[in-house]
Amino acid sequence: MVIGILAVQGAFIEHRHMLEQLGVSSFEIRQKNDLLKPMDGIILPGGESTTMGKLLRDLGMLDLLKEKIAQGLPTFGTCAGLILLSQKIEGEKNPHLGLMDIVVERNAYGRQLSSFYTHDLFNKMKIPMTFIRAPYIKEIGQGVEVLSIVSGRMVAARQKNMLVTAFHPELNDDLTVHTYFLEMVSSSS
Ligand code: GLN
Repeated sequence: MVIGILAVQGAFIEHRHMLEQLGVSSFEIRQKNDLLKPMDGIILPGGESTTMGKLLRDLGMLDLLKEKIAQGLPTFGTCAGLILLSQKIEGEKNPHLGLMDIVVERNAYGRQLSSFYTHDLFNKMKIPMTFIRAPYIKEIGQGVEVLSIVSGRMVAARQKNMLVTAFHPELNDDLTVHTYFLEMVSSSS
């Protein structure tokens, strides 16, 4: 199994470290050609979604990436990655990849609470969660399964081959969410 990690911007190294601990190899996707390499799944990391979206367009990667995910490539988006995947970003005209049937609110926790650490349930398992200027999922469409609710807000969900978290599981040493994703990858191939 090999996982590609989008590495145009943001917290991609940390995902590589998580996968290493799980004995899974990965490579960084920095340009369009990297998207043509064989991979069993892809991670879209946290960072700044506007910058990432712009880089994906400038590097000519957005359409190919969108096509691969739409065709069923297992995909895990954290934080900015969640925003990239969503069909609608509150207050913005256009989405980026626009593949997942969710509406997101960016920077949703106000200034004082913009970054925080907590423990809460993901798929019925209690795990550490680090939120950094995080979005939350405001609305979901049919076919979206909610995997985590923190303080009444949806912060993790899955729709078919797409898994998203508003928090950063790669910044703690708990491997639950990455393990969940790798199970998605295994069962899709
Ligand atoms: N606030 C960022 C955005 O809107 C996301 C933050 C993150 O990925 N940690 O893109």
